Amino acid sequence: MLSIFPRMFNAVLENGISARALHAGALAVRLWNPRDFTDDAHRTVDQRPYGGGAGMLMKPAPLAAAIDAARRVNDGPVVYLSPQGERLDQRMLDELARLPALILLAGRYEGIDERIVQSRVDREISLGDYVLAGGELAAMVVIEGVARLLPGVLGNQQSARQDSFSADSQPCPLLDCPHYTRPEVFEGRAVPAVLLSGNHGEIRRWRLMQALGRTSERRPELLAGLKLDRRQSELLKAYRRGKNFQSERGDD
Ligand code: SAM
Repeated sequence: MLSIFPRMFNAVLENGISARALHAGALAVRLWNPRDFTDDAHRTVDQRPYGGGAGMLMKPAPLAAAIDAARRVNDGPVVYLSPQGERLDQRMLDELARLPALILLAGRYEGIDERIVQSRVDREISLGDYVLAGGELAAMVVIEGVARLLPGVLGNQQSARQDSFSADSQPCPLLDCPHYTRPEVFEGRAVPAVLLSGNHGEIRRWRLMQALGRTSERRPELLAGLKLDRRQSELLKAYRRGKNFQSERGDD
């Protein structure tokens, strides 16, 4: 991990799943600060851009030296977190989690000198179509997203596979179904009876129906062009019938 604000990473490395992954030895994170690779008294990492314009840029030399130092102990691809990169999604996190190592590069200021992108960056990844002040939060998203996929990190391995966008959710990456925990009635709202029935076949059917229904309502593009089999189409119809029935009764 390369950043001029290494302490920001305490937020993700000292808490929750990523901390658990670190303690279990499933994840190892090492931080390199480009300031440690400067040769002036002020440890300068930024410079004015050629051609003028607002803001400063990260100088190439400290970044190059920091990346080269990271590469001497880690032969993973160099990933620059950038609003101009490929948009991060679950499929990409699955792919990154299978790599033995990664070098994440967080930019600051108006970004980094383009020659570093040309000479040392293997991939650019974006959190979304908006601009943050630095790449640290994006790098933390990658770290936590990858950590929870590493073998042995989540208490119940099933849970990562059943989450929204999981490649294992059927028939394609669907949104997750709704979940309920104790008590059975909260503020007058009861847990759906099927979840209390103990009938695991019916529970699986209900969960798939909810996942299909939610996906079609909230993210129809995930289902578009997909050929649902007969059972899945029936479940989606049953979900829609149930919704129509509820709205006719004024339940929602
Ligand atoms: N001038 C750059 C542009 O418009 O493409 C934006 C620079 S931004 C202010 C500073 C740093 O924040 C970037 O170098 C990058 O590391 C990080 N950053 C900003 N938005 C991001 C995003 N959506 N995804 C990932 N990293 C981002």
